Amino acid sequence: MKPFSSLIFDLDGVLYRGHTPIAGAAKALDKIRAAGYPVSFITNNATRSRAQLRRRLARMGIEAKRDEIMTSAYAAACYLKSLKPKPGAVYALGERGLRNELRAAGFNLLPLCLTGECGSATTFSRLPKSERNPHASVLVTGLDRYVTYTKLAAALDVLNAGAKWVACNLDPTLPMENGVHPGSGGVGACLAYSAGKVRQAERAAGSAFSNIILREPDQVVGKPNPYMLDLLCTDCRPSARRSILFVGDRLDMDIAFAHAAGLSSLLVLSGVAKLEEAEKAGGDLKPGAILHSVADLPKWLGVN
Ligand SMILES: [Mg+2]
Repeated sequence: MKPFSSLIFDLDGVLYRGHTPIAGAAKALDKIRAAGYPVSFITNNATRSRAQLRRRLARMGIEAKRDEIMTSAYAAACYLKSLKPKPGAVYALGERGLRNELRAAGFNLLPLCLTGECGSATTFSRLPKSERNPHASVLVTGLDRYVTYTKLAAALDVLNAGAKWVACNLDPTLPMENGVHPGSGGVGACLAYSAGKVRQAERAAGSAFSNIILREPDQVVGKPNPYMLDLLCTDCRPSARRSILFVGDRLDMDIAFAHAAGLSSLLVLSGVAKLEEAEKAGGDLKPGAILHSVADLPKWLGVN
């Protein structure tokens, strides 16, 4: 009898780092599928649409159908569609994948840089307020590796004008080939701080950053929120969830997500989390099992 009914994989740090596949990942997935396990994918990374990710996985030798892939960009579009009243204009600080998912869901996106030269803060600040402040009803943020001061200034204008803030995720970092880069949460933190309020009482001694009360997002659709699992697995009864294994590389996002969603969890050490911190982790951050890499998974499942 199989120990799990199906497997769900995170992507960054689990199946690849940057553009480099994790060694043995495609072969491992082939073996797992051949053993009869349904496989799907959930990623916080909002830079690519599901169609783009499908092509990317295929280039790495991993076949996936579009409805087997859930991203925080698509989840943000689904969340916006669920709002009543439906949002009017949306300002999206993010890459093409996020913008494509939002457009495909029927949302009117404001231009990233409004008017003027995208890279010039001086030009932006000289625009009339009617052009600078686009009155979007929602700001959506995802990782934008082409972020500029002007894009952030426009997003801050939108927030300060009273828009709802939907964040795809708050991942602090993105695992790449040779280390980690800032993640979507790093970019979002800039806005949270700049749109925050100065703490009036009990100002923290010696910590300038903690003297600002952050403007938190109104909604975070990505992990560890179980929202993406609810979208991916609409007929997944709570009692059946323990039999689904979620494979991730972060304690704070993946393992916490698995616990919040009622899934079994497995941590791989090919991404962000290190063995020492994983062994020390407790509560919702404690992984059910730890493997060096996804390449070790077939043997662990007994399907080698
Ligand atoms: Mg990851």
